[in-house]
Amino acid sequence: MRSEHRLELQKDLARHLRAGHPWVFKKALARPPRGLPAGTIVDVVEGDRFVARGYLDPHSAIVVRILTREEGEEIDAAFWRRRVARALALRRELVSGTSAYRLLHGESDGLPGVVADRYERFAVIKLYSAGLTPHRADIVEALRAECGDLAGVYGRDEIPRDDDDEGGAPEGKVLWGAEPPELLAIDEHGVKILVDVRRGQKTGLFLDQRENRRLVRELARGRPEALNLFSYTGGFSVAAALGGARHVVSNDLDQDALQLARETFKANGLDPADHAFAKGDAFDLLASYKRQGRRFDLVVCDPPAFAKSQKAVEGALAGYASLNRAALQVLAPGGLLVTCSCSARVSAEQFTEAVKEAAFKSRVELALVGETRQPADHPISLQFREGRYLKALVLRRLS
Ligand code: SAH
Repeated sequence: MRSEHRLELQKDLARHLRAGHPWVFKKALARPPRGLPAGTIVDVVEGDRFVARGYLDPHSAIVVRILTREEGEEIDAAFWRRRVARALALRRELVSGTSAYRLLHGESDGLPGVVADRYERFAVIKLYSAGLTPHRADIVEALRAECGDLAGVYGRDEIPRDDDDEGGAPEGKVLWGAEPPELLAIDEHGVKILVDVRRGQKTGLFLDQRENRRLVRELARGRPEALNLFSYTGGFSVAAALGGARHVVSNDLDQDALQLARETFKANGLDPADHAFAKGDAFDLLASYKRQGRRFDLVVCDPPAFAKSQKAVEGALAGYASLNRAALQVLAPGGLLVTCSCSARVSAEQFTEAVKEAAFKSRVELALVGETRQPADHPISLQFREGRYLKALVLRRLS
């Protein structure tokens, strides 16, 4: 049962693994692994004692990702199938009202480095480590068998070239079954969203914002002018328009995303001509609105992750403060700001502090009227603090 490949931990470094953390850093090993290919199943040991078993990624700083702490558990097709089944059971119990949701959420589902999202009858899978490549076929087969009703599984691996890299250019391909259509129309709480699973960001849509889109739809009632910064394909924009905003400005750097946003408006019976789609930098747009004295009753601000490494956290906090300050300058008194951070390295407390600083500097009084995290299909293993990444604050401008 034991793996023939044993990697010895440095003294006293087994504790966090025993406590359930899934990562072994290269510097935690007594000696680097030699000559073993990516994906090799290895046992991490302390002296003679088994600690955990995982897969090797020799070129990553996270040299082993843990799959099990049961010495008797073999990593074979049945293992992947059990883990996938466990993840899907959680979704069946806790996710409803949508034809798109996250099926497998990496570390927090006991599947480190594996992400899969479902869009109607297609699954899109992303592997974030070279060590998963030899196991891909088992994972795909487990998904196909456990879902039972898929038409196809599409793969878009994102294996980083080095540790500061978010991932190589994802090259998609069909891993099983049918080719997904050019655009997939999903239904999310009664809203249609068009998704490009081949070229869209991540797997096509930011599913982690699903419940926040529903919230924005509710918040838009009686708020005629709305602004959605970093709108991507317009999920929050359509939500605001359906909820009651008469005029929604969607802003993004990406022209293709804005075009898909227009199509998504149409798919929901909304005329894009009644709204605006502003291509450009969010800071520039906010500066020009400020000069014009333009005000909005609802502002949504959901930028890309600012801190991609621990070193970048301070800069990210300053970035959140200045972005939110600029957003507050176009928020009408009585208006709502929905502001998000998806940087795992920035805590909810730090993010709230950054927004507090923004309010102070722009001499705006704010009340926190809501606060959310990621939904159940993006679970958080309590042992894996890096899994707490999405934070959203809802703030009302008092004066
Ligand atoms: N809010 C979106 C997801 C945002 S992803 C949703 O709910 O679906 C981040 C988006 O920000 C991307 O579409 C990217 O093109 C855009 N972006 C990045 N930097 C930007 C900038 N400086 N100004 C405007 N948009 C930007």
